[in-house]
Amino acid sequence: MNIQSMKLIFLGPPGAGKGTISKMAAERLGVPQISTGDMFRTAVKEKTELGLRVQAILAAGGLVPDELTIAIIRERLSWPDVRQSYILDGFPRTIPQAEALAAFSSPDAAVDFEVRDDLILFRLTGRRVCRACGAIYHAVTKPPKVDSICDLCGGELYTRNDDREETVKARLRAYHEETEPLIGYYAGKGRLLTIDGSPDAETVYTTFISEIGRFLKK
Ligand code: ADP
Ligand code: ADP
Ligand code: ZN
Repeated sequence: MNIQSMKLIFLGPPGAGKGTISKMAAERLGVPQISTGDMFRTAVKEKTELGLRVQAILAAGGLVPDELTIAIIRERLSWPDVRQSYILDGFPRTIPQAEALAAFSSPDAAVDFEVRDDLILFRLTGRRVCRACGAIYHAVTKPPKVDSICDLCGGELYTRNDDREETVKARLRAYHEETEPLIGYYAGKGRLLTIDGSPDAETVYTTFISEIGRFLKK
């Protein structure tokens, strides 16, 4: 696919595959992937001022306040690498975030990956992430070649502390209350693409690529 410009938002519940599909697009198409979750986790790991502010919120499965999240994305979207294209993985997550984004960038589409809650629990409790490069694995659906070692960089795989069952339930609640209304918000603007996120990742990616073209400027 030859794309001039592709400014996308990835919606969908935790575990829908937003990170997996956006990393595939970043690798195969060169579109920068921006994950607010990754940015917050890096800040926590590095114990920056931001990290100290958001640590307890992430651990509890709540949402970081809009002001803070919006400021981070506004700054990131001012970098030259995202002038033509980006995929926002996990932002916006609330209506005020979406409204703020509209004031400083114009996304072509919001892609909603639909996955039922029971499949989400299976996906998240099996998720393993590379500490070094952020690659995403699954104990059952995408195991690494060598146990606990990243295929790509040899880094150590770990289980995110918010992927425990109790925290997943809190995150799903936050999703249904705060994030799901964004589906109607983008549908109302004629910018919603709904994709079935339940088949294997290659199938989801292929469907995404074959459907997204109609939202992009020629
Ligand atoms: P997942 O895709 O599994 O839900 P993420 O890595 O996107 O997880 O996000 C991890 C956590 O980071 C969220 O549970 C939330 O605490 C915080 N977070 C990420 N993005 C946002 C956002 N746009 N607004 C508020 N909090 C966010
Ligand atoms: P999100 O970013 O939406 O929270 P991830 O991309 O991190 O979701 O995926 C959550 C877990 O589910 C990971 O362990 C990933 O390997 C696995 N996964 C993602 N997409 C699929 C898929 N289409 N089929 C099976 N497992 C998947
Ligand atoms: Zn790695």
